[in-house]
Amino acid sequence: MDTKIIKIDENKLDRNLIEEAAQIIKKGGLVAFPTETVYGLGANGLDEKAVKKIFIAKGRPQDNPLILHVHSTDQVKELVEEIPPVAKLCMEKFWPGPLTIILKKSPKVPEVISAGLDTVAIRMPENNIALDLIKTSNTPIAAPSANTSGKPSPTSADHVIEDLMGKVDMIVDGGNTGIGLESTVLDLSTDIPMILRPGGITLEDLSKFIPNISIDSSIIKEDEKIVPKSPGQKYRHYAPKAEMLLFSGQVDSIVEAIIVNTEKYTREGKRVGIICTDETKNFYKEGLIISMGSRNNKESIAKNLFNILRTFDHLEVDIILAEGVDLSNLGIAIMNRMMKAASGKIIKL
Ligand code: AMP
Ligand code: MG
Repeated sequence: MDTKIIKIDENKLDRNLIEEAAQIIKKGGLVAFPTETVYGLGANGLDEKAVKKIFIAKGRPQDNPLILHVHSTDQVKELVEEIPPVAKLCMEKFWPGPLTIILKKSPKVPEVISAGLDTVAIRMPENNIALDLIKTSNTPIAAPSANTSGKPSPTSADHVIEDLMGKVDMIVDGGNTGIGLESTVLDLSTDIPMILRPGGITLEDLSKFIPNISIDSSIIKEDEKIVPKSPGQKYRHYAPKAEMLLFSGQVDSIVEAIIVNTEKYTREGKRVGIICTDETKNFYKEGLIISMGSRNNKESIAKNLFNILRTFDHLEVDIILAEGVDLSNLGIAIMNRMMKAASGKIIKL
C-alpha cells in the first residue's frame, strides 16, 4: 500500500489537507495523526471493517479494546447508555485533554471497538489537527497509538513512519507531541471511579473532583497474579530491543547501583545505555548516557521517554540501565511505562 505523508501546522490548519485526510476516514481507510499525548492510528469508529484494519496494521491483539475520539461532548451521547454526573464533570474539567472515560456502551458501538466488553472508552484530544479531522470526518475516530504493538508509542511522525510506512493510507505530520505519554484511562461505568491506566491527567488532578477515586492495583506492581482491569495493561508494551533494568529507590542508591552495573556489563563487552536525569547525568563516566529531563519537571521526562527508548534501539545497545522516578504526579504514569518497557525487571534499592 502507498502511504501518503502530509505536513499540517496545528496553529495554521490547511483545510484542503484536513479534507483529504477526512475523505480517507470516510471511505474506510487508515490515517495516522498527532494528538497531544502520542500519535494515533485512526479509522471510522462506527465502521467495523475499517476498525479491523487498525488491528492488522499494528499487529494488535483482538481482545484489546480501542478508544473512540470525539470533537464534542454531543458526539458522546449516541455512543453510551447514559452520561452520569461524575462523567459530565470530568468532561467539563478535563476535555479536551488526556483523559479517557469508560462508560456503558450503546448498541451503536461495534463489538470490535469494545472487544466484547459492555463498555466503551471515549476521549476528546487537545490538538487542533485531531479535533478538526474528527469533525470533518463526521464520525467518532477509533485511534490507538500509531505504533507496532509492543513497541514504544510514537511521539513524532518519524516514529510512525518507522512502524507503519506501507501499512496505512496516510500519515499526518504535525510535529512532536506535547505530553508524550498516553491518556489516563478512567472507568466511570461502575459505582467506584477507578484509574485503569495512569496517564497525562494525574491522580492528584482527578482527586480534587472525585474524592472516592481509586487506582487499579495492577498498575504499579508487576505481579502476574494480579489481573489488570484494562485488557491493554496485560500486554508487553513500550519495549526497546535491548533488555532493560529499572532501578528504583533513593536517587543516590540508584546512581551507585547503575555505576556498578555499567562497569560490570562493560567488562563483559556489552554496549550499555543509561537512562538518567539532568540531576544525575554527570555522575556517569562510561556507557551511552541520555537524560530524560529534570526530576523537578516530570512533564519533560514524560515528553522524552518514548523517544529515548527508540533512540537506544538505533544505537544498538545490549542493555539499558534506567533510573526510576518517584510516584508523585506524572511519576505513576512514567513508572508504569518504564516497568513495562523493562518487562518487570525492577531492582528495588
Ligand atoms: P491505546 O489506545 O493503544 O493507548 O490503548 C487504549 C487503552 O484503553 C488500552 O489499555 C485498552 O485496554 C484500554 N481500554 C479501551 N477500552 C476499554 C474498555 N472498554 N474497558 C477497559 N479498558 C479499555
Ligand atoms: Mg498503545
